[in-house]
Amino acid sequence: MIGVIVKKTERLVAAEFFELFKTPWEFYQEGSSYDVIVTTGAPPSGVGDTAQIVYSSDTLPGDRSLRVFHPGSSPHWLDATDYSMPLYGRLTVFEARPHSTALVYSAGQKAGLCTRESGRGIVRIGYDLFGEVERLLVHGQPPEQAGRPALEQHIHLLRSLILSLGIPLVEVPPTPHGYTMTACLTHDVDFVGIKDHGFNHTIQGFLHRALFGSVRRLMRRELTLRQTMTNWAAALSLPLVHLGLRRDFWREFDRYGELERGHPSTYYFIPYKNRPGRNVSLPHPERRAAAYDLGAVQADIQAIRRRGGEAALHGIDAWLDPSSARDERQRLASETGAACTGHRSHWLCFNTQSPLVLDEAGFDYDSTCGYNETVGFKAGTCQVFRPLGVRRLLELPMQLQDVALFYPTSLGLSPAAAWREMTKILDTIADFGGVAAILWHTRSLSPERLWDEPYIKLIDELERRGAWFGAAASVTEWFRARRQLKLTRDAISTERVRVHIEGPSFQPGCTLRVHIPIPSHGAWGVVRQYDVPWSGEAEVQIDLMAHTAREKKIRLPGAPSLSREEAPIS
Ligand SMILES: [Zn+2]
Repeated sequence: MIGVIVKKTERLVAAEFFELFKTPWEFYQEGSSYDVIVTTGAPPSGVGDTAQIVYSSDTLPGDRSLRVFHPGSSPHWLDATDYSMPLYGRLTVFEARPHSTALVYSAGQKAGLCTRESGRGIVRIGYDLFGEVERLLVHGQPPEQAGRPALEQHIHLLRSLILSLGIPLVEVPPTPHGYTMTACLTHDVDFVGIKDHGFNHTIQGFLHRALFGSVRRLMRRELTLRQTMTNWAAALSLPLVHLGLRRDFWREFDRYGELERGHPSTYYFIPYKNRPGRNVSLPHPERRAAAYDLGAVQADIQAIRRRGGEAALHGIDAWLDPSSARDERQRLASETGAACTGHRSHWLCFNTQSPLVLDEAGFDYDSTCGYNETVGFKAGTCQVFRPLGVRRLLELPMQLQDVALFYPTSLGLSPAAAWREMTKILDTIADFGGVAAILWHTRSLSPERLWDEPYIKLIDELERRGAWFGAAASVTEWFRARRQLKLTRDAISTERVRVHIEGPSFQPGCTLRVHIPIPSHGAWGVVRQYDVPWSGEAEVQIDLMAHTAREKKIRLPGAPSLSREEAPIS
């Protein structure tokens, strides 16, 4: 059990951090015994020989002999374990005293030290853990650092520090048991039929890209000759589509159903036609208005629901105030005849108050946390989290979207380069656990985009990697159930684990992961990792001898970094 001591102002964010870590912890109570104390200030007297991990960029009373100094402006880069991670707040580095081991470096300077005092380890880390986490959850990372799962790296560092002190851990990873990750397929319905658009800017753009852009893509080998012909044929058939003599080639809800082969997905529908919304600070705000009415997609929504999918709100003004949010939610519910629990803001318009607004309007989850211009981890995590200060709302961060990958005004990647980017993101999610939340716009299978092949390849890859597929509402409910688990009274030895778990059992179930550090010398520590399914019992006893461990070699904090050739394979 970890005892946590933080300032009053840090309690909310500390609680969210440990909700994501999901290991036995509580705010420090005098008289209770802990395996390790994590604190952001000087620990109280009377903690005996308990190991301590102290995070702070302030100079603390115990630092007097350390000679602290603050290097220049952020972001700082921290070289801690197997990852290099960004820090957006203040950093303190130390000049080591004798008998201390440097654990963490920043630009060659020591940003974390471990000393041993009468047998117990005291770790001093020179940044504000919960300040960093708050910044990530509230403001997110700049697009340049999108590829860094910074929040997951903070969890990884704390886990590694605890293990390097020789303390075992049990936790509930953010992925259902038996799966490597969760896949959440989502579609923003910005457009429905090409017929809805007459000859407005959308159609002018379509014709230009279909007739001329296709040639450029053909020359760059990003389109085949057949695809180019498909785009030309689509452009030339437009009058026939308007006359009702040809199928409207932008309406492809059913095709998504076929490609997804029974995996549920979530569609975000815009509640009102011809409303661009208020306070939009992106260029051409008038273009944010949708050209379709919900009445025209009733049958599509019924079909989506029949195949296990979800219809949720693609909000216009819902991000701004509770009455707009309530009105848009009710409009979707009354037009579709089913409750609407989820939201993603059209064009990803959002501000720091939006989670509170959506929470007050009764939404269960939001999935706006993502980038328009790139792909990656805006909040530094691929886990569903609770925005600070809300009562019920959960946030499902979105990492991968088609327009950001392919549009020339965003990343503008070729199919091959986009695939490399997508697999990098999936590798990271597989490493840390969590959700690959994917946004493929409903129009993207059709001419002139023709981004169907990368989407099919992505679904194949997610299946190959052993992902659990869930619609956004189911995925967030899985995390809500995991949040309800309360792990206490753990006792872990190399042979046996005992832990008390309060909370509901749910499907797909979760894993109890036990980490047993094995004393070793040298740069690489060995951790035995046991994954055991949890079947809902409150008093869990695990005989580790009856389970097979994965021996993971991890680079413990403080170990010199090895070249790739030297690094053992985990
Ligand atoms: Zn949209």
